[in-house]
Amino acid sequence: MSTAELDDFAKEADAWFAANTPKTPDFMLPLTFMEVGTDQQFDFLRDWQRKVYEAGYLGAAWPKDYGGGGLTQAHQDIATKAMRKYNGPIMLNAIGLNWTGPLLLDIGSEAHKKKYIKGILSAEDIWCQGFSEPDNGSDLGNAQLRAVRDGDDYILNGSKIWTTHGHYGKYMILLARTDMDAPNKYAGLSFILTPMTVPGIETRKIKKLTGEHGFTQTFFNDARVPADGLMGREGEGWKIAMQTLEYERGARIGQAGGYVLTEIDPLEILNLARNSQRDGEDVLDDPVIANHLVDFMIENQASAMGRKRSRIRGLTQDNPLGLMLMDKLVMTEYTRRINQFALGLQGGNAGYYVDDPNAVDNGYWHRGYLNAFSATIGGGTSQIQRNIIGEHALGLPKTR
Ligand SMILES: Cc1cc2nc3c(=O)[nH]c(=O)nc-3n(C[C@H](O)[C@H](O)[C@H](O)COP(=O)(O)OP(=O)(O)OC[C@H]3O[C@@H](n4cnc5c(N)ncnc54)[C@H](O)[C@@H]3O)c2cc1C
Repeated sequence: MSTAELDDFAKEADAWFAANTPKTPDFMLPLTFMEVGTDQQFDFLRDWQRKVYEAGYLGAAWPKDYGGGGLTQAHQDIATKAMRKYNGPIMLNAIGLNWTGPLLLDIGSEAHKKKYIKGILSAEDIWCQGFSEPDNGSDLGNAQLRAVRDGDDYILNGSKIWTTHGHYGKYMILLARTDMDAPNKYAGLSFILTPMTVPGIETRKIKKLTGEHGFTQTFFNDARVPADGLMGREGEGWKIAMQTLEYERGARIGQAGGYVLTEIDPLEILNLARNSQRDGEDVLDDPVIANHLVDFMIENQASAMGRKRSRIRGLTQDNPLGLMLMDKLVMTEYTRRINQFALGLQGGNAGYYVDDPNAVDNGYWHRGYLNAFSATIGGGTSQIQRNIIGEHALGLPKTR
């Protein structure tokens, strides 16, 4: 691929996003894919994803045979950058685009790829993830939902929780126990692509601290699903779930592109600080505040550079996943801290929430702060993330 061709693609992408990025609607959009909770938000985001895909700026690097653009990762990166530049809305089908799709392209059967990939890209088929259970989140290997083979089907019984997009999902990636007598808990698990539309599957919305509904508890009551949704072989579920989590945590590349979380640029906070006063003085005149701001800027830059470095093979040969695993931990904690800092700038006004006339920026930072905890928990908590980095990247002794 010549530089001139990439330059042309960049110009086209820039022009397309300049002309097509929708204006902020008159209702509140979710901050991340984990807060999509109303049909209005859902329809708006689904429409946007479809448009971006049809224009060739999503799944650009995925194979043409299955509905992708057949181009390169460099093309996709260019398109995603243009999307950010024009502040496009987040991509809706995060679980499909970022972890189910890459997994299917990696280890799915030809039939799976033909059946699912295009619908993931176009947002026709929304995917959700049934890993966590009421008593087994971090201890995922202990999942208890049962799948019993019966002819060409599995019969599912049990419950999953915190299922993001559970109420919109057409399909779920599901971790189920197929063998109760396996020699250890990990060996009894299987990974099944599960239609959510069969009788016996019920979702109940769970309300978050912010009042938004992003996820559900999902109940399986003698739900009969086709056995051709099995990925790999029975008993290989743990290995496949771990591979999925590597995509989810950004430790493997192959995602369709676009972005699914609002990323806070420290310059936004600088603007907020410029407009904030304390005891009649500009807060920016406070050297402690200025120092914190510079720290956030440095952190943000360092993280972006770390992400770039992680793509250079020579630099990460000994430890290909290390830098990328760190990114999830660092960026999710950064987002939480920077929202907290933004609230701190607002003094007593920080207490006001969305739609309150006293709320700064209509409560954007308050809502952002409360929602920022979600990414530090979903996909593995920060504590679990630290364990993984310690054990797998730094070679520290294992906790268990
Ligand atoms: C917004 C949101 C969306 C989510 N979406 C999904 C989804 O779509 N699908 C899905 O399957 N799940 C989803 N989850 C669930 C998420 O993956 C789990 O909440 C997470 O893995 C933690 O599990 P838990 O809630 O059971 O907490 P627990 O595992 O009970 O942990 C409680 C606390 O103990 C700590 N802890 C536990 N074990 C260890 C250890 N070994 N070492 C150190 N500390 C430890 C944890 O870090 C945490 O602080 C979502 C969660 C959130 C918040």
